[in-house]
Amino acid sequence: MTHRRQLFIDNAFVPSADGRSIPLIDPSDGSEFAEIARGAAEDVDRAVAAARAAFGDQGNGAWGRLAPMERGRLLARFAQLVEKHHDELASLESRDVGKPLRQARADVTALQRYAEFYAGAADKIYGDVIPYPSTYAVLALREPHGVTGQILPWNYPIQVLGRSCMPALAAGNTCVVKPSEDACLSVLRAAELTAEAGFPPGALNVVTGYGREAGSALASHADVDHISFTGSPEIGKLVACAAAEHHHPVILELGGKSPQILFADADLDAALPLVVNGIIQNSGQTCVAGSRVLVESSVYEEVIERLAARFSELVAAPANLDPDLGPLIRATQLERVRNFVELAERDHIKVAARGRVAADAPRGGFYHPAVLLRDVPNEHRVAQEEIFGPVLAVMPFTSEHEAIRMANDTRYGLAAALWTRDGARQLRVARKLVSGQVFVNCFGAGGGVELPLGGVKHSGHGREKGMEALLGVTRLKTIIVKHD
Ligand code: NAD
Repeated sequence: MTHRRQLFIDNAFVPSADGRSIPLIDPSDGSEFAEIARGAAEDVDRAVAAARAAFGDQGNGAWGRLAPMERGRLLARFAQLVEKHHDELASLESRDVGKPLRQARADVTALQRYAEFYAGAADKIYGDVIPYPSTYAVLALREPHGVTGQILPWNYPIQVLGRSCMPALAAGNTCVVKPSEDACLSVLRAAELTAEAGFPPGALNVVTGYGREAGSALASHADVDHISFTGSPEIGKLVACAAAEHHHPVILELGGKSPQILFADADLDAALPLVVNGIIQNSGQTCVAGSRVLVESSVYEEVIERLAARFSELVAAPANLDPDLGPLIRATQLERVRNFVELAERDHIKVAARGRVAADAPRGGFYHPAVLLRDVPNEHRVAQEEIFGPVLAVMPFTSEHEAIRMANDTRYGLAAALWTRDGARQLRVARKLVSGQVFVNCFGAGGGVELPLGGVKHSGHGREKGMEALLGVTRLKTIIVKHD
């Protein structure tokens, strides 16, 4: 075992109150390779107290009283340290999540970009002066909430850390982070780098542990002013209910079943590689995975043929070999994906192509080949539920109206894409899709930190990324002064 990690509170690694731990499993071979502290309610109390002290009773703590430009400088210094330790962070993330190395590298660069972007934004969080009768001056100020809690998923730990915490810190909040018990080493190392960058103790704290223990203690904590949760719709509901106990605001970034619509006039050479990448990135364990593909019937057979050719070449192998696909996160996830594919086959849905698992991949690893399903009825569970694996459901449509109806016909609404050369159709369809993001003739678009992200329906509410995120991590105060 190479890593033993404790909680990170007040800029120091500390054991959990009861000293218990949780093993971390390497998804590439199924071995135990690290141990993290099993934090629980008492540890969350400690971390929240540290964050409260750093914010201060009246925003006068070591973080709370920093001038915005000083906060920006510290975030910029942190970004430089992330860049300096890029290789180390990427290999931690790759091993912990089972993510091909180049994808883990992209995630570390994303953390760096979040820190840079919000470093620049820290001193540009303007309020408003509201016109009113001339005997008044009315100011609308954007103020930090205070102590914020961030509950993270396992699929993109270091990116979601950046996405949730960097805007919160830039706006003057302090943070208590509860990363996933399945993957969190990069988050702990990044937290250590905030201390090296000069963040005062308590500005950013990390409590590792199980969701039902540390996570629920954070979500229901009376002294946490705001929660940002990224994870499944089911747990998101529990978190929102827990926070409602104290009427604390919550941002929910949940799951998706994102459609990609291919019209007959689409540039298929440009579209198809991104359709494939949209489902194999992180082995399909991505909230915005393009897991449903709707194809206009006149090009349907051609699309199936070209996708099938690519799918049959795809190889799942250990993350450090930088394969097309790494393993899934854990044995239960592998089981879940297998069950969905079996269900599809039992219901006579055709497998148009199947990739393979590398012959020398360790037998204890959680590998699943890429699977292409064709003629999937949109109402079938494999077209409606978030499988979270490399399984692509393809289905034909005959009219624009039908494509929009099918695209919107799920409980989710996180991301969508459409591919067409017809300019009027691009905007017409984009506006009718019920989705937080819509890509036109692209998918993912490099995942830019500038692009607001968030869901509708069961994909959640609130927005992260871009300048929009700053609205969520601040609250508006209206000051009305009568001066005559
Ligand atoms: P999950 O909901 O199982 O867990 C997310 C986090 O919640 C973990 O840290 C977990 O420990 C914690 N948790 C579990 N029970 C809890 C409880 N009772 N109270 C408080 N916290 C609790 O999700 P996951 O399996 O880690 O991640 C996969 C899900 O996340 C997928 O649905 C995916 O689409 C979604 N996701 C969404 C986005 C987005 O931006 N919308 C990004 C990444 C992942």
